Amino acid sequence: MIGSETIIMGKESPKIAVLGAGVVGSTVAKILQEQVRNVDITIIADNFREETVSAVAAGIFRPSTSFRGATAEITKRWINNSWYFWQDILKSSESAQAGVISFGTYIFSKENYHNTRNHLIEDLVPIYRAVDENELKICGEGWKYGSYFNTVKIGCDNYLPWVERSFVANGGKVVQKYINSFSSLPEYDLVFNCTGLGAKYLCNDHDLVPIRGQIFKVKAPWLKTAFYGDYDTYIIPGHDGVATLGGVRQYNSYNRDVCKYDAAAIMERCVQLLPALKNAEVVAQKVGLRPHRVPVRVEREIIDRVKVVHCYGHGGYGVTCAPGTAIDAVNIGLDLLRSNSKSKL
Ligand SMILES: Cc1cc2nc3c(=O)[nH]c(=O)nc-3n(C[C@H](O)[C@H](O)[C@H](O)COP(=O)(O)OP(=O)(O)OC[C@H]3O[C@@H](n4cnc5c(N)ncnc54)[C@H](O)[C@@H]3O)c2cc1C
Repeated sequence: MIGSETIIMGKESPKIAVLGAGVVGSTVAKILQEQVRNVDITIIADNFREETVSAVAAGIFRPSTSFRGATAEITKRWINNSWYFWQDILKSSESAQAGVISFGTYIFSKENYHNTRNHLIEDLVPIYRAVDENELKICGEGWKYGSYFNTVKIGCDNYLPWVERSFVANGGKVVQKYINSFSSLPEYDLVFNCTGLGAKYLCNDHDLVPIRGQIFKVKAPWLKTAFYGDYDTYIIPGHDGVATLGGVRQYNSYNRDVCKYDAAAIMERCVQLLPALKNAEVVAQKVGLRPHRVPVRVEREIIDRVKVVHCYGHGGYGVTCAPGTAIDAVNIGLDLLRSNSKSKL
């Protein structure tokens, strides 16, 4: 894991590009800039802030078993390092600007006890427990199983601009551009590939598939707890009083338009779970394509003589696990730079 040590590069400042300005690219750029001095870092992306998939996400920290690194040990390291990264921001005076909040979450199921458990975080979050008989009735009758746990939520509508502001204030550069191939980046000593689903085309990666999601943003300032039900139903509070209601998970669907049938089903399921949402004002409806890959790709590759570190394929858990994967990607990148005779550490 990245420590408090700052690495100072030699006189020839290496040029580093971070491709992608979603939660993964932004977090890689943030960690890199904090970790290394005397480097020239540029974020390059065709879409920023609210135009990214990251900005569609509810942003709750809740990995599932479909999130996987190369080994169980790596997966767990990513999850744990991510949790502590978000906790550090949560405990800082910047938490509101960064859009990081914490709250309790109920997860109920009528069908399956295992839906309510999460072996990846039960030993990590401060509370993860089975609910009692009274709590099973909070969201109406018929729930058979339930758990309650504490977690955090990262609102990318705040987090992405917050990172970008500090990155630029500390000398980082930002360029809006679509990149067709790594060979168009010969001036960079190192390139981090954090292009999410864009990596499908940039790397010709057939293992990367979209999982389509659709959500409502509704005004619900009274909502202070998150709720999950069966059929991928979720209600997640927001730091600005705007809650996220979801959702759907459509494998290999590229449809970026709001679907009225999905919308009707999502609203019906959420209102059933929490009737108080019935008259909540709808602020927006959004669609995002989750960049799903098993395992998530964090590894080095030399492409057309360009040193590349890939960090993509986080699926439905990119906000949760961006920091843990970014820490590993930065470590791999720094090792690559060390092996470059031009840069002396
Ligand atoms: C409805 C929905 C709900 C979600 N809820 C959660 C949640 O609660 N918790 C959670 O952890 N995750 C959630 N996710 C998943 C999360 O949004 C993704 O895992 C995450 O956003 C992926 O981040 P990313 O930075 O890899 O990709 P993106 O946000 O898509 O960013 C990719 C970046 O790369 C750039 N790019 C791509 N190709 C190129 C190119 N060729 N040249 C230049 N730039 C390029 C793009 O412009 C963009 O800036 C949700 C997703 C959806 C759709």
